[in-house]
Amino acid sequence: MGVPTLGCSCAVCTSTDPHDRRLRPSILLQWQHEGRERVVLIDTGPDFRAQALQNRLTRVDAVFYTHGHADHIFGLDDLRPLSFSVSREGDRIPLYAAPETEETLRRVYDYTFSPQATYPNRPRVHIEPLSDSTCAFGVEFRRIPVLHGHQQICGFRFGSTAYLTDVSHIPEESFALLGDLDYVVLSALRHKPHPSHATVEQAVGWAQRIGAKHTWLTHIAHELGHEETNAKLPENIRLAHDQLSFEIGLGDGCA
Ligand SMILES: [Zn+2]
Ligand SMILES: [Zn+2]
Repeated sequence: MGVPTLGCSCAVCTSTDPHDRRLRPSILLQWQHEGRERVVLIDTGPDFRAQALQNRLTRVDAVFYTHGHADHIFGLDDLRPLSFSVSREGDRIPLYAAPETEETLRRVYDYTFSPQATYPNRPRVHIEPLSDSTCAFGVEFRRIPVLHGHQQICGFRFGSTAYLTDVSHIPEESFALLGDLDYVVLSALRHKPHPSHATVEQAVGWAQRIGAKHTWLTHIAHELGHEETNAKLPENIRLAHDQLSFEIGLGDGCA
């Protein structure tokens, strides 16, 4: 819901610590490929426009979607201005989505995807089916299936980093895809159990099992204050925060 959460005046929602202000979760990956900078997003939530402005984003080359919930897709329309520059290069922005997410995108953004769509300024984007392994501009994105309540959704691994948001259960086969990680970004909503999200305690347990060098927790609700929560976490597990940025290895390439 974002922090401050609308209508709430709890200690975290009224905190003056900038780390306690949280827009809806999403990440941006940026790298050089064949002499060009490439920018790939995972999810475009309702705060995408604000995040793009804050981070002076000037292009997007592709988007990978984890699932079709509002807090992960409602910024899609704001790809429009960026997609116009891609379209001037003769292209459209690929949106990688699993079948369930694709169906949601087509329904919610009917004016963009319907064959009958006539609105001339719709985003220049196209949906690409998501396979277990997708090569985008020389970087392999491995799909990591996780459960979000009863729904199977997608996490991603790229090089030695994995991004798993909205997780309530990690299947054994997926743990097997999470070896040798430098970083894992894992969602942890709050301390109180939730039917479709992990608690901090569950996420810490998975983080320790995955054994990445460092774990960042994301998708954090207003029950968790940044400083007080971090003070109780193991040394290599920390709450992520808006505009957190770090360098990662993106693997040996793909074609
Ligand atoms: Zn969700
Ligand atoms: Zn979510």
